[in-house]
Amino acid sequence: IVCFIGRSNVGKSSLIKALFSLAPEVEVRISKTPGHTKKMNFFKVGKHFTVVDMPGYGYRAPEDFADMVETYLKERSNLRRTFLLVDSVIGIQKTDNIAIEMCEEFALPYVIVLTKIDKSSKGHLLKQVLEIQKFVNTKTQGCFPQLFAVSAVTFSGIHLLRCFIANVTGNLDLTN
Ligand code: GDP
Repeated sequence: IVCFIGRSNVGKSSLIKALFSLAPEVEVRISKTPGHTKKMNFFKVGKHFTVVDMPGYGYRAPEDFADMVETYLKERSNLRRTFLLVDSVIGIQKTDNIAIEMCEEFALPYVIVLTKIDKSSKGHLLKQVLEIQKFVNTKTQGCFPQLFAVSAVTFSGIHLLRCFIANVTGNLDLTN
């Protein structure tokens, strides 16, 4: 199992849709209203691959946090990687830190993915990448040392992330 986690509106649904645009049998529901993705969404890709889209937790942090921790512990044995999505325009927020602390506490292998990189100028994006990279290098233990920067609009970085996911799940052909 691979898990995608991030604040409401960070671009989870869009990223999952972009990642699996080559697998048309996967149905991806995009939530239109921020904060309304309260239920967890499971997407199965082929036999061995499941994507778990966690609810946005920006608006009801305590309740959602309790739910997430429980789900994490339940799925821990087959949870291969957690992808923590951070909006590249606004950077790491308080709620992102909650997720980071949770991953660190449960020693989950996780990866930070910067979303919506088409939205900021190159200068702003570079500043965010350097800042977050420094944070990862100095403040985290379980975080993958390389950031992934993606756009679900231009598809920039999507192929690399797709290969990384295929690699960590041992499933090189995602549609099989
Ligand atoms: P979720 O709540 O985390 O599932 O976020 P969504 O995938 O629903 O995206 C929230 C909003 O951000 C939507 O209006 C998307 O169109 C927009 N969005 C998502 N990804 C991107 C991106 O890569 N670039 C741009 N410009 N907008 C994006």
